[in-house]
Amino acid sequence: MKDELLVGVQLFPFTYLHEGVEQTLKRLREWSAVNAIMLVSANRGESKYAFGKRWDSGHENVLGPYKAKGGFYSNPHLDLYDGTALKPVKCPEEGLSDIDSLDVTIDAARPLGLKVYAMIFEALYANQPEALYKNTAIALAQDVLGRPAMQGCYNNPHYRNFLLAMTEDHIRNYDIEGIYIEFEGWGMQSPSYFLGLPNKGMPICFCDHCMDAARKRGWDGDRARKGFLELIERRGAPDGMPDDGAFVESLRIMLHYPEVLAWESLWMQTRQRMFLEIYGTAKAIDPDKKVGWNVNSPVQTMPVARAAYDYGTAHNYSDWVKPNVHNAFAAGMFDQSVHRIHHGLLPDTPRETVMDLLLNVFGYEPPFEAEPFARERFGTKTRFGPQFVEHETLRIRRKVQGRVPVYVGLDVEPPVSKDASDSLRGMEASVNAALNAGAEGIIMGQFYHDWPRESLEAVGRAIRARA
Ligand SMILES: [Zn+2]
Repeated sequence: MKDELLVGVQLFPFTYLHEGVEQTLKRLREWSAVNAIMLVSANRGESKYAFGKRWDSGHENVLGPYKAKGGFYSNPHLDLYDGTALKPVKCPEEGLSDIDSLDVTIDAARPLGLKVYAMIFEALYANQPEALYKNTAIALAQDVLGRPAMQGCYNNPHYRNFLLAMTEDHIRNYDIEGIYIEFEGWGMQSPSYFLGLPNKGMPICFCDHCMDAARKRGWDGDRARKGFLELIERRGAPDGMPDDGAFVESLRIMLHYPEVLAWESLWMQTRQRMFLEIYGTAKAIDPDKKVGWNVNSPVQTMPVARAAYDYGTAHNYSDWVKPNVHNAFAAGMFDQSVHRIHHGLLPDTPRETVMDLLLNVFGYEPPFEAEPFARERFGTKTRFGPQFVEHETLRIRRKVQGRVPVYVGLDVEPPVSKDASDSLRGMEASVNAALNAGAEGIIMGQFYHDWPRESLEAVGRAIRARA
C-alpha cells in the first residue's frame, strides 16, 4: 500500500491568539486536508500579516499589520543550556508568554489525528530585542572587516551548544513526531555573495574559531580576507571596466586568492557539520523521532548555493527534506541572482543576457508577469508557474534517489478561478505538479496566516482528488 501523503503547514503560535487553537487546526484539516502541523516553537519573530484584512475570509480576526516578537514559544528547559552562555528567552508576547504553545498544539492536534513537528526556526536577526537571548555578542560571526554580524557562527562553541541544547530540549521533552529545522543565512551573509547571492552585509566569517578551522585545513584566512576586499573594491570601482572585462578581472582575483572560494566551502562544511550533529543528537536521545530540514530557496535559484548544497548527501542527516519551491518567491530570488551576478561578475554584459544564461544553466522556462496577487504578496514583478514546481521536484528526487522523502514546500498561489489561464497557474496546478513529479508530500509555506481561505481550500481539493 502506498504511504499516506504528508500534507503539512507551517504555523506561528500567534495565529492561536487571533483565531483560536482548535478552530485553526480544524480549518486546516477540513479546508486543506492537512495531516501535519509544523509549529514554530523557537526561535524567531518578525513574521507578520502582510495585508491585514485582505485575508478576511480565512482570518476574520486580523485587524491589520502585526509583528511577532520571537523567542521560544515552547517552554525552554534551562538546565539543558548549561554548556553555553546563551540562554533561551521565552516569547514575551501577551497570551503566549504564559503558555507552552507546543504542548497546547499537541493536546489539540491529537484528537484530530494530526501529527505535530516542533519547527526550530533559527534566525537571530528576526527576533525583536526583548526576545533575543542575552550574551548574543559572544556567538556572533565576524565579517570581513572584523565587525560582528547578525548571524551566529557555527564554529563558535556557544552557538553550537545552544543549537544542540535546543534540539535536545524539543526531542526530550515533547511528545512530537519530530523536529523540523530551518536555518536562515543563505544569501544574507554566506561568503561568496559576489557570485550571485544577495547581500545585506559583508562576507562572513572571520572570527578566531573560523580562522583556526581554516588553518587546520591549510587555508590562510588573511589571504581570504584580502581576496574578498579586492573583489569588493573592484566591484565598487567607479572608473569603468578593466581592460580585460569585469569577469576576467574577478577570475584573476580568485585565481590569485583561491582562499576566497575555500571560504565558501568552509562556511558550508561548517553548516553541514552542524546538520550532522543535530541529527546525531536527536537520534541519540530518541531514535524514533524524525528530523526534517527546510532547504532554502537560494539552493534552487542561485548557482553558488546550489553547488554548495548537495541533496545527494541529505540522507546522512535527514529523515526528510523540504525544498522551498515557492513559485513567486523563487522568481524573486532568481531575479536577485541575475542582479547579483550581473552586478558582481558580469557588469559589462547586458542584464537580459545574464538572465538567459541562468535560465539555460538551470533549465527553467522564463518567469512570466506576476498577477497583482503575487506582485502584492511578494513584491516581485514576475513569477514561475507549476512547470517550475514539476521541474524542481523531478530534479531533487533524482538527487535524493529515494533515500529520503521529499515534501515540496509550496507558497500560497492565487486560487483557481473560472479563467482558463488561471487554472494552468493556480494553487491546484502547483500541488498536482509536485505530486505528479513524485513528491511524497507538500508543506504549505511560508505560514498559514499568509493564506486566504480560497487557496487553502484549493490545496484540499487537489489532495482529496487523488485519494
Ligand atoms: Zn566564525
